[in-house]
Amino acid sequence: MPSKRKVCFTGPTRLKLAEDLLRAANCELVSGKSVDDFRSYRYEKRELINLIDDSDVLFPAGREFIGGDILDSCANLQAVVKSSIGIENVDVEAATELRILCRNSRTPENYMGVAEATVGLMVTLFKRLKFNEAFLRSGGWKEPQNRGTLMIGKTIGIIGVGRIGRNVAKRLGAWDVKFLGYDPYVSQETVAPLGIRMVPLEELLRESDLVTIHVVLTKETRGMIRMPQLRTMKKTAYIVNTSRGPVFDEADLAQALNEGIIAGAALDVFAEEPLPMNNPLREVDPTRLTLTPHIIGNNPGSLEAGQKMAAQSIVSILEGKVPETLVNPAAVERWKERFWT
Ligand code: NAD
Repeated sequence: MPSKRKVCFTGPTRLKLAEDLLRAANCELVSGKSVDDFRSYRYEKRELINLIDDSDVLFPAGREFIGGDILDSCANLQAVVKSSIGIENVDVEAATELRILCRNSRTPENYMGVAEATVGLMVTLFKRLKFNEAFLRSGGWKEPQNRGTLMIGKTIGIIGVGRIGRNVAKRLGAWDVKFLGYDPYVSQETVAPLGIRMVPLEELLRESDLVTIHVVLTKETRGMIRMPQLRTMKKTAYIVNTSRGPVFDEADLAQALNEGIIAGAALDVFAEEPLPMNNPLREVDPTRLTLTPHIIGNNPGSLEAGQKMAAQSIVSILEGKVPETLVNPAAVERWKERFWT
């Protein structure tokens, strides 16, 4: 690396490994408000611009939106790098225009962790685990009407058949379930070996006994599941969402659960995080709705692997090398021209 380069963390403390790796590579680190101490903190735009200032790389935490105006105000910025998969809090289109590389950290520890957890949530729903636990704790015992269902022969609908969606299918490969998939960017041939039959969204919703959502959050996927989609589902069907909260209209989902339009759901992600105390999902009968605080796929390995991949990407970028995968490969040529010629 030519001279000391500056990396800006908007919310450090959980990123000790990344910080150590970057310091060892002669990077100067600038830190914003820690995500542990300022959990719900929202930066003002000007405050973020001042914080990033003349940094070469931005390492955003996820709670702040990094819009084009912020990127445009930070003249030295070569890259935005995240230690997790979701990068929807960065305006990637604007970054590409501005020749700024965007990189997420798609580590197996992360996406396999989510795939495993998704299977766990499915089992919890089909077997009516929460209901029966609550029933026992309130003095009840086994009742025939409280039995769960066999998963063999059930139809699992996967919306978003990328890394996590495919790994869910792979993990469930020996369970004798049927898979339907919906993903306009994935071909039938690609996922045929996993036994997934690609169908239109409406057919998937109508036919599935459980729908699991694994899309990236985009203009298209934001709000893709609302009351009309929920009404298309079977009354006995379940939904799992470990992708991103804004994919749902949460008020519609709460209503659908309260009115028995669908049988149950499990959610790890929410439109606003931490989940506000007045969110209607909190009012839904907990035996029908499992809520976890965006942690279900995490494990010590996933945090470390993400930090390591992010730090290594930053070091490469600051040496003028393009990391193996980028969210916006279209920015590469002009990034090279701007920073490395
Ligand atoms: P991925 O990019 O491999 O897969 C996402 C899939 O969504 C792609 O195949 C893409 O074609 C598809 N897609 C895009 N637009 C679509 C649309 N309109 N309709 C249907 N499908 C569409 O990503 P991934 O690694 O599998 O991650 C999936 C999701 O899980 C992301 O939202 C990610 O942020 C989230 N995630 C959550 C956690 C967690 O802790 N809960 C951890 C990691 C990732």
